Amino acid sequence: MEGHVVPLIDGDQEVGFYFKGKGEFSLPIDQVDELTVVRFNLARNTKVKLRQGIGDWFLDIPISELNFLHEGLKLPAFESSDAAINESIPGSLEAFRKKNLMAGWRNRSYVMLTARHNLPAQAAWYLNILGEKGLWEFARDPWTARSEQLWFARPRSSREGKHAWNDLVLAPISVRNLGTPPRRPVMPPFVLKNLNLEMQALANGTGSYVATETFFPSSAGMKMMRLKLDNTILDGSTGGIVLHHLHLKKVTQDGQSLRFDHRENEILLELLKPTELGSPLQLRFEVEGDFLVHPDGDNRWELGNETWFPSTEIEGMRFTATAKIRSEKPFIPLATGQVVSQREEGDFHILETKLDQPTWSFFIVAGKYLFEEETRNGLKVRVASYAHKSNSDRKLAKLVLDIAQYYENILGPFPVKELNVVQRNEWGSGQAPNGFLFITNEAFNPQMGLLNQWFSQGINQRYAHEIAHQYWGNQVMIANAEENWISEAFAQYCSAFVIRSGKGESDFNHLIAEWTARSRDQAEWGTIPTLARTLALDDGPTTFRIRWSLLYGKGAVLLNKIHREIGDQAFVTLMRSFQKSVKGRPGTTQDLINLLKIIAKKDYTPFFEKYLWGTAMPD
Ligand SMILES: [Zn+2]
Repeated sequence: MEGHVVPLIDGDQEVGFYFKGKGEFSLPIDQVDELTVVRFNLARNTKVKLRQGIGDWFLDIPISELNFLHEGLKLPAFESSDAAINESIPGSLEAFRKKNLMAGWRNRSYVMLTARHNLPAQAAWYLNILGEKGLWEFARDPWTARSEQLWFARPRSSREGKHAWNDLVLAPISVRNLGTPPRRPVMPPFVLKNLNLEMQALANGTGSYVATETFFPSSAGMKMMRLKLDNTILDGSTGGIVLHHLHLKKVTQDGQSLRFDHRENEILLELLKPTELGSPLQLRFEVEGDFLVHPDGDNRWELGNETWFPSTEIEGMRFTATAKIRSEKPFIPLATGQVVSQREEGDFHILETKLDQPTWSFFIVAGKYLFEEETRNGLKVRVASYAHKSNSDRKLAKLVLDIAQYYENILGPFPVKELNVVQRNEWGSGQAPNGFLFITNEAFNPQMGLLNQWFSQGINQRYAHEIAHQYWGNQVMIANAEENWISEAFAQYCSAFVIRSGKGESDFNHLIAEWTARSRDQAEWGTIPTLARTLALDDGPTTFRIRWSLLYGKGAVLLNKIHREIGDQAFVTLMRSFQKSVKGRPGTTQDLINLLKIIAKKDYTPFFEKYLWGTAMPD
């Protein structure tokens, strides 16, 4: 490196340095599992190519300016520089920071403060590089993301639309987990075990709640705790962007107020004392704001897709829950869990729910709904529509029960006792958190014979997919982004089973052939576990096509290959055993391999090595 350096001082502490000159930053890309995604993201977003060194691949980034902030590192003393030469440096630093310090994927100060106050001491850093190829950030977060990550950024193009709050678009390049072997979910610092919620929701869109949350620490000596909580919720449904706010008013532990900071959708908390292994902590959060967004000014609001209550990373979301929701009329609330009580008190609808099985999400919706309920064999399906009332709602409830019953035969008892089928005023999408099935307007169209529609159109295969998510993704939970394929591929493959039972073998084979063709087309561009990172910044359709074809298509094709090898009976036993043995826990590829060893008497490790972690397609 050649150029000028100034130390960065915070108080009397040296916290980093700024460099302007000529140099190179070189990062080994030595985790085989990410080579495909690193190559794709580099090729599609930067001009940089990997260099093959001895044994490993390297990413070389030329530097013209560099800003380095760190915690817990001992750096060599810098040569004292000629003050006259360096006169221009503070100005350059100022300009660099204004222009190039990206909003990033994390709040920098939270990462540094956590590393400073938690034990054992671990290094944390943020390295921002401006090179001729663009802007890069290499960060190490030892406590919450528990990884080292390299990101590439460039200014948002005018075609992509300017946003006041974010001028840069970012692509993940490399992720290396800390303290966890590759292919294992990262151990989260805190696991959320229980949520108790009391919410008051007013008809004008404002609300307040008290969330009492019980966490288990995964290590001792943590004084600082970081949680996710959105500051703002964006409502883009009206054309412009309307900002709604969540205001964290107070956090207490054992009745004492905690010091906290809430910004950039994260909370930093200072706990009363360092964590002790085996001692759960109970925190009480008070939140208020205008966070009950009514999309399109519709007569409904929904919470669930935003991080609307203090939450950990997904690896740490394993909680049971109780909730009491007071919703001002005319909005009737529905929430995750079984209904304990439903009543009216003056101007309010009151709903109390309880959830005994662990979940990773908590949804609340409220609206001027019309309800249709149907119960069969202990499963209650509640259809909530709001645009109109028609007998299609009853047909829909019966159809959901038919499919649920079919799944009970092959997968075991339906995971929930109550399933809320809720209309969203959109077209062509679906979502299925615990106890919910969100479906869009086409399902409520009274013009079409629903049963015909279900079994004749692709959209209906998708509803079978969504119902299967009560098993895959909810009863067997999602371990992390890499293991998300378990939930999607099994839900997809189960939907093909529904088609087979409803329409016969040839429709089933047609579906598999279509998924095979689509995934063959895209196979070389990605591996299933890294799809969430596969990203072409300026090409949304390509990104979507690769992710969709491989996550849903190739994932289901791999299950079909196993199915063909081991036969109908063994495959159903495999799915049933998976549901039974992993119930209430996150499911992993290793769980699947272990079950296959028992059921099929074969080691499928090389199979997943080649087709899941690799880009090969099975015959
Ligand atoms: Zn899905």
